[in-house]
Amino acid sequence: MSRRKLVVGNWKMNGMQAALDEVAAIGARAAQHPAVEVGLCLPATLIAAANARKGGAFIGAQDCHMQASGAHTGCLSVAMLAEAGASWTIVGHSERRQDQGETDADVAAKALAAKAAGLGVILCVGESLDVRDAGNAEAVVSAQLLASLPDGAAADWLAIAYEPIWAIGTGRIPTMEAVATMHAALRAALASRIGEDAKGMRILYGGSMNGDNAAELMAITDVDGGLVGGASLTAEKFAPIIAAA
Ligand code: PGA
Repeated sequence: MSRRKLVVGNWKMNGMQAALDEVAAIGARAAQHPAVEVGLCLPATLIAAANARKGGAFIGAQDCHMQASGAHTGCLSVAMLAEAGASWTIVGHSERRQDQGETDADVAAKALAAKAAGLGVILCVGESLDVRDAGNAEAVVSAQLLASLPDGAAADWLAIAYEPIWAIGTGRIPTMEAVATMHAALRAALASRIGEDAKGMRILYGGSMNGDNAAELMAITDVDGGLVGGASLTAEKFAPIIAAA
């Protein structure tokens, strides 16, 4: 089954209004590569303005709340994000699992809420260095994926991002063999839950992806794109990754 490559920038807590020029430049590059689905998951403060300048890219959020409204100071509902112009959201990024204590159950609930609002969802999983060194990363991350997977998970609204925590922002990446083994394990785990549809679900790699390693990473059979942090902040750095997909 052919899977359209998905390349998504995660700007994290970066990007003032002045960065909208980069959004426009990235959107223009995305328009040159229609075979690739390109998106930018931005700080919520930029979503509405970015939507007017997105070109061939989609605009997404980095997180959402699982409830529709209510007494949740500082949080944003999926309807708010959708109204602002987000068409996708990330859920379960390791920085939120660590910093905000998000559990697998929280992540599944957020994914379901996002789906109900019509958003596409990128669900993140990945192991710590301790787990990697202990030699059982595939089992641990597969279990994390199945525990975080929402009911009704399907390839037409959900993508998975495998992001080894120790590779995020460090300039280190696993060997290509390790990435291939992990992605194959995750697809097998998906198949155990959702059957044939697992063949259509995109599994992205994330963690220090850049213009130098993107082509090799995305040539791996079960790697269907990338979730890119630091190298997505400028068109100059992100364009070669889009071109590699
Ligand atoms: P990085 O971040 O590309 O800066 O390593 C990736 C991510 O955390 O999504």
